[in-house]
Amino acid sequence: MGGVMIRINENYLKLEASYLFSEIAKRVAAFQESHPEQEIIKLGIGDVTRALPKACLDAFHTAVDEMGDDASFRGYGPEQGYLFLRQKIAEKDFQARGADIGEDEIFVSDGAKCDTGNLQEIFATDITIAIPDPVYPAYLDTNVMAGRTGLFNDGRYDGIVYMEGKWENGFVPALPDQKVDLIYLCFPNNPTGTTIGKDQLKTWVDFARDNRALILFDAAYEAFIRDDQLPHSIYEIEGAREVAIECRSYSKTAGFTGTRCAYTVVPKSCRAWSVDGSSHLLNQLWNRRHTTKFNGVSYPVQRAAEAVYSPEGQAQTHALVNYYLRNAELIRNEIGKLGYECIGGENGPYIWVKAKTDSWRFFDTLLKKAGVVCTPGAGFGRCGEGYVRFSAFNHFEKVQTAMARIGEAL
Ligand code: PLP
Repeated sequence: MGGVMIRINENYLKLEASYLFSEIAKRVAAFQESHPEQEIIKLGIGDVTRALPKACLDAFHTAVDEMGDDASFRGYGPEQGYLFLRQKIAEKDFQARGADIGEDEIFVSDGAKCDTGNLQEIFATDITIAIPDPVYPAYLDTNVMAGRTGLFNDGRYDGIVYMEGKWENGFVPALPDQKVDLIYLCFPNNPTGTTIGKDQLKTWVDFARDNRALILFDAAYEAFIRDDQLPHSIYEIEGAREVAIECRSYSKTAGFTGTRCAYTVVPKSCRAWSVDGSSHLLNQLWNRRHTTKFNGVSYPVQRAAEAVYSPEGQAQTHALVNYYLRNAELIRNEIGKLGYECIGGENGPYIWVKAKTDSWRFFDTLLKKAGVVCTPGAGFGRCGEGYVRFSAFNHFEKVQTAMARIGEAL
């Protein structure tokens, strides 16, 4: 029998944990069914609520019209993204900040989720992965699927080096005390909203250089940084060009969660090694992977993303992000007044709150007593137990209502 039937990738069977957001959706749906009159306010999942900036929308419309005319119609574009967009990215997101990144090091894609998930594919399956706890779940699950872990035991996968975020270290984990190969970092952080300074980030870059490791730096929330001292890119750190890949996204920067556009930077000086000891350029490997499995982001979407860099686009996206940061400030203040400690929400859209009870209990209380949805920290890893995440993505008036209700409920 064994040889005659189609078999699955058994690593998928290790994906033990029920997916966080589906469990939340289930509990919210059950509550709504028994309380149909209750308006539920969602401060849970990190999805934007406001319309695309006008500059992006106008560019989008114009490009759609171009597609309707044989003279300006475009078919397949470059898999790596159109040069008009990659040049703007290199110049405005990196060179303007003193980071030495060129357009041929940029790969435009349809999402940072896909990129962070796909990147692991160019590395050996037996490398050691270091992942923060708590963490954006996709980093972990994609490595499980690839077979880099053992089974899920007591809330953790065997074989992963977990880097623990705690209240005491401000949820910036300490450097691993063992040899690791691929290190996932995300700043400003999801779920904790915490940030990292240049000196601290330098210790990670130095660690990666000393250990011939690589950092996958997820900067999906870079646009929320308001503190001038904080780095926006890992390439602002000396030496990072040799040891870091950076992922960015227009999802939260410009309201593109439903429009889909992101990019990954793979510098030409990043290397990894084959078993015979020879080194290989990751830019070439990723280019091979990207052009083989991906056929590019649609032309109108890339034009809409390009518009982010126009003067109007810059002003509008800044205002958009400020809108969410005002929500974050309100959440921080109101939660603080109720006697709860929190971090985040100043340079990122997430507020990470010490729940004073277990995560899911706090979640249930908030849902039942206030009709407000947050995200239980335990869903992001063992170290998230005892915390909840509030997302600042909603309409200001709804956040006001939510906080008033929470004030009465807690
Ligand atoms: N990376 C982090 C840390 C995120 O929180 C998210 C979305 O919530 C993503 C990546 C996904 O971004 P995208 O919409 O570009 O796929």
